[in-house]
Amino acid sequence: MHQINDLVRQVSSYLTPYQVEKIKQAYSFGARVHEGQHRVSGEPYIYHPLEVAHILADMHMDHQTLIAALLHDVIEDTATAKQEISRKFGKSVAELVDGVSKLTQITFDSVAEAQAQNFRKMLMAMSNDIRVILVKLADRLHNMRTVAVFRPDKRRRIARETLEIYVPIAQRLGLNSIRLELEELGFSSLYPMRHRIMTEQVTKARGHRKEIIDKIRNSLRRRLRQEKIPAQIVGREKHLYGIYQKMRDNGLSFNEVYDVYAFRIIVDTVDVCYRVYGIIWTLWRTHRSTDSNTGNG
Ligand code: MN
Repeated sequence: MHQINDLVRQVSSYLTPYQVEKIKQAYSFGARVHEGQHRVSGEPYIYHPLEVAHILADMHMDHQTLIAALLHDVIEDTATAKQEISRKFGKSVAELVDGVSKLTQITFDSVAEAQAQNFRKMLMAMSNDIRVILVKLADRLHNMRTVAVFRPDKRRRIARETLEIYVPIAQRLGLNSIRLELEELGFSSLYPMRHRIMTEQVTKARGHRKEIIDKIRNSLRRRLRQEKIPAQIVGREKHLYGIYQKMRDNGLSFNEVYDVYAFRIIVDTVDVCYRVYGIIWTLWRTHRSTDSNTGNG
């Protein structure tokens, strides 16, 4: 669990002393107005906004976003008015907190894809400042990390909303590590059984798969050396939720999902990149696994 001092230390590396001071003030203010409130887990409520601020500090967000993160539940859950935030921390911060509160008030309760799409559009349109969405995503990420404390029905609702609404938004914004974590957490809370079985299968197959990844990487490396192309090659297994989606969408069993490996090949220029693409194509053109999937890491 993080403390305010950890956050201060972290943001001091890239924010001015004045900005850091405002962040400390926001924390004290938030802790005071949330005083006596607890999360379902029993922790003092302020731990949650503090963790949300941490997630955003890891992304090196500006001080207004971090202050808004520390105060993001204040309008919704305490007697604090927007005007008071505005007076203490400025109009931008007040607008951010207000924007996050408005998003929080909407709950999503349909699985229809069309509605999910409308909902995503509405969320994006309501936030004319993209930082509102970033705070909301960080809020959701921390709620998903601690989702185990909720009742099963609430847990499922949050998980489904996460997979259908927030994962696509994170993906659209290019926030890859947040997207992956939301996917894995959403998958394991929405489908605990499927998640457990797949984890077992992947673990069982892993030894075998590690060898395959090494083999592919070695032949790539050999070939690129022959062509005198300096490149960095990174191979990995695809994530559980990605494999699951493939199985679900194509009606495949675990053993039928072939493109569970992804390779990233980093070269100096776009020209060389296309040459590498050609080389890969000739190396594996007879293989069933589609070549285009080799590079979408
Ligand atoms: Mn929150």
